[in-house]
Amino acid sequence: MSNLYTVEGQEQVAKRLCELTFADRVFFCNSGTEAVELAIKAARRYHHSRGDISRNQIITLEGGFHGRTLGALAATGRDEYLKGFEPRNPGFLQVPFGDFEELESAVSEQTAGILLEPVQGEGGVRTIPCSYIRRVRELCDRHNVLMLLDEVQTGIGRTGRLFGYEESGVVPDIVAVAKGLGGGFPVGAVLATESVGIAMQPGSHGSTFGGNPLAMSVAKVVLDIVSAPAFLERVRMASIRLRKQAELLVSMYSLAFDGVTGAGLLVGLRCIPPVREVVNMLYEQKLLCVPAGNNVLRLVPPLTVSDDEIDDAMRKIARVGKAICDMSVKRRKSLTDAAV
Ligand SMILES: *Cc1c(COP(=O)(O)O)cnc(C)c1O
Repeated sequence: MSNLYTVEGQEQVAKRLCELTFADRVFFCNSGTEAVELAIKAARRYHHSRGDISRNQIITLEGGFHGRTLGALAATGRDEYLKGFEPRNPGFLQVPFGDFEELESAVSEQTAGILLEPVQGEGGVRTIPCSYIRRVRELCDRHNVLMLLDEVQTGIGRTGRLFGYEESGVVPDIVAVAKGLGGGFPVGAVLATESVGIAMQPGSHGSTFGGNPLAMSVAKVVLDIVSAPAFLERVRMASIRLRKQAELLVSMYSLAFDGVTGAGLLVGLRCIPPVREVVNMLYEQKLLCVPAGNNVLRLVPPLTVSDDEIDDAMRKIARVGKAICDMSVKRRKSLTDAAV
């Protein structure tokens, strides 16, 4: 069923998303990268519809990750992901992470929007401070620039709130959503304010499968469950449990781990040996983790993770931490023996 026709489920899920967030308008797609593409298109179209046709540049942060299609790749801006797929789409500018002055001086008459993740996942589970996010909002307001958030990973309860931006109290203009929205089923969405939404007219965008009835049935159930205050409270409790144990591992196995980052159930454990090696050792323990930038081990359990499962996972990580420490002690000993 095409989205040329009314899909009842779309109306219901869109209405629910609008009730739960800043949004007035929602468009459904099938993946995170598609949501990011539309966020970029909508930002450009917004300025275009106001006659400001030179405002088409999107500013992003170093270490960000926005997806694998050509526009999102250009927004991601990392050479290793672009290699062999050049040329990079024009219209993107990247500034260093965390340096507000650099961002401020990058904004110009060409800037359509600033796109960022509340917590950079791939970039090393780096939380963007609320104060920085609020300053970005003020900067956007001052220069008639739109604030675009990529909440593909942080959205739908991952940070312990329904959306990561809630923590800072800002109201974004456009938010890209996917991953958690389907609880495993492919579905994405773009949330936008009325003034951005009306710039997108019938014909300016489309998707055959976006918002199909099955995806909408799934998203409706997921939203009902995840948006319940008790569910989000449980995510925050699980996060505290996981982080406490992670901090303990840092203090016990300081030759293996050296810091905990992140928010909610998106937790990073900075590693001393190459994170790839740690991930492989955890595979052997039958624990699946993902490496992230800055040599960080990314822990992204299901939001329904139980206390027992957290404890079990942390025991496995502790075992690996101990093995790493034993190895480096042995290595150091054999070096001193050799020196003697
Ligand atoms: C996963 C991810 C994407 C891309 O989503 P896909 O569904 O894989 O296309 C974009 N942005 C962020 C922040 C992500 O974590």
